[in-house]
Amino acid sequence: MTAENSGNSAKPPLKVLLCSPRGFCAGVVRAIDSVEQALKRYGAPVYVRHEIVHNRYVVESLKAKGAIFVEELSEIPDTKAPVIFSAHGVPKSIPEESKRRNFFHFDATCPLVTKVHREAEIHHKRGREIVQTEAEAEAFQPRDVSKLAYVTQTTLSLDDTAGIVAVLKRRFPDIVAPHKEDICYATTNRQEAVKRVAPQVDALVVVGAPNSSNSRRLQEVAERAGCSYSVLVQRAAEIDWSKFDGIKTLGVTAGASAPEVLVEEILDAFAARYTLNVETVSGADESGMFFPLPRQLRDNAAA
Ligand code: SF4
Repeated sequence: MTAENSGNSAKPPLKVLLCSPRGFCAGVVRAIDSVEQALKRYGAPVYVRHEIVHNRYVVESLKAKGAIFVEELSEIPDTKAPVIFSAHGVPKSIPEESKRRNFFHFDATCPLVTKVHREAEIHHKRGREIVQTEAEAEAFQPRDVSKLAYVTQTTLSLDDTAGIVAVLKRRFPDIVAPHKEDICYATTNRQEAVKRVAPQVDALVVVGAPNSSNSRRLQEVAERAGCSYSVLVQRAAEIDWSKFDGIKTLGVTAGASAPEVLVEEILDAFAARYTLNVETVSGADESGMFFPLPRQLRDNAAA
């Protein structure tokens, strides 16, 4: 059953505003493709440190194809099988440990996360202290106010970051700002789409995992933008239908690690209870965004 053709006169009408862009970003696509290409090229198993992306559905699908997920490298036996680091970045000690153990590793860290880490490293090397949250910004006692900088995490809410920056600038007018805004394009675009849709709907569903920070932020952004009920769900079975009683309009979006198939599952669940009229509200065009695979896997992908 699809959302559009589920018409049944007994069901109440529901207008659905589907946020675009939503769901997978180029960094997540690259991370998942890295595991899939490694499985194709080298066969199973492929070890993956940490959930490759914050989505159980994606992780389970890759497990079924032969990926083995571990929390730490110490859980991996001595092996020639590929070892892949997740999209969210790893501390420097991890590639070092991997080298020591002669692992054949690929780094699937999103290039935009790597960029922010590099920037933080450069500040650190220059002797600057780094503040990361609003609470830290208020409490922070710098060693030297002339050596202070900030960087922003790629998946934080734009509004949160503005709050932290305001505190820092008020307290420390000489603080060094990043060269340009470090919140990634995907986070910005998904939040902007939600801000546009949220004031027009009675409720908004964010499809995503509870441990995905960018998904949680989308839910907060919806509430701040005036939507009276917004909820983060992974699967249709989690929906508390009593919360949607009497709604006439619904917004739907998905975090950067949520596959579109789960959005469809949620729409189908609504279509079983309502007669849907789905409209896509389009914002930024991301069709040109693409990050090439790690080099060794790239050759294979082209083959
Ligand atoms: S949300 Fe942004 S930083 Fe995170 S993986 Fe996607 S593109 Fe990269």
